[in-house]
Amino acid sequence: MEILKLNNVSYSYNKKDNVLTDVNLTINAGEDIAIIGHNGSGKSTLGKLLISLLKPKSGTLLFNGTVIDYKNDSLIRAKSGIVFQNPDNQFIGTTVRDDIAFGLENKRVPHEQMDDVVKEYASKVGIINLLDKEPSTLSGGQKQRVALAGILAMLPDIIVFDEALAMLDPKGKKEISELINNIKKNNPSLTIIRITHDLNEAFNSDKVVVLSKGKIIFNDTSINVFKHETELKKLGLDIPFIVKLNQALLSEGLISEVDYNLHSLAKKICK
Ligand code: ADP
Repeated sequence: MEILKLNNVSYSYNKKDNVLTDVNLTINAGEDIAIIGHNGSGKSTLGKLLISLLKPKSGTLLFNGTVIDYKNDSLIRAKSGIVFQNPDNQFIGTTVRDDIAFGLENKRVPHEQMDDVVKEYASKVGIINLLDKEPSTLSGGQKQRVALAGILAMLPDIIVFDEALAMLDPKGKKEISELINNIKKNNPSLTIIRITHDLNEAFNSDKVVVLSKGKIIFNDTSINVFKHETELKKLGLDIPFIVKLNQALLSEGLISEVDYNLHSLAKKICK
């Protein structure tokens, strides 16, 4: 079922230069999509348009088949959330507890249930011991967990991760990436949109959308997209490690067919 659809969407910040031009994109409920492209190609703008934080200058956004405009954008706002690159820019509460509760207050969750809901989502993301802390005192990874708890408590249908791992150290990156994958595994109907520079993260998504200069160049399964090595290199993009490894092993005759599972690939080579 189509949850999001952009029909011929263009966008500009200054009314002159288009940042996105004639974008057509359909996303099905439950898909895990990566958006990649060089800096300034329009990825963040596309992510914000998809959840109606920005409105198309021309063209339309449909959410579950309904055209979204200024009058009804609460339909999609209530069902979506975004985690940004810099976690400091997204806190509202003075404590972690307040921050997670903020959205629930807007949703008019009864006061007597609020603390239980806050605790439920804090424990889902592993921050139950941090509820009384000030968000500004936390590590980058902990901050992203707080942001995620606040969004998950709103029972979203769609979450956009806008370079959400980019500012984390390698350990934080790995932990948050695993957390996102687990959340997705436990909520198969949740639609995930990952704006990322990490091609290995993109490779693990169901679909990859490649943007260049505000236009969609590829929109296909990750395996199909990363077959276009030459075109991707021309756009300043590379291909993921596992794809390169397969190419090298095939050309050396060490494997006879591609295998994108690192563990089984290792076993085949060691045989
Ligand atoms: P990406 O996420 O791929 O780096 P963005 O969507 O952030 O790309 O930006 C696309 C283009 O829009 C860039 O040229 C950027 O400078 C411009 N842009 C982004 N945000 C704004 C803004 N708030 N005001 C004006 N121009 C912007």
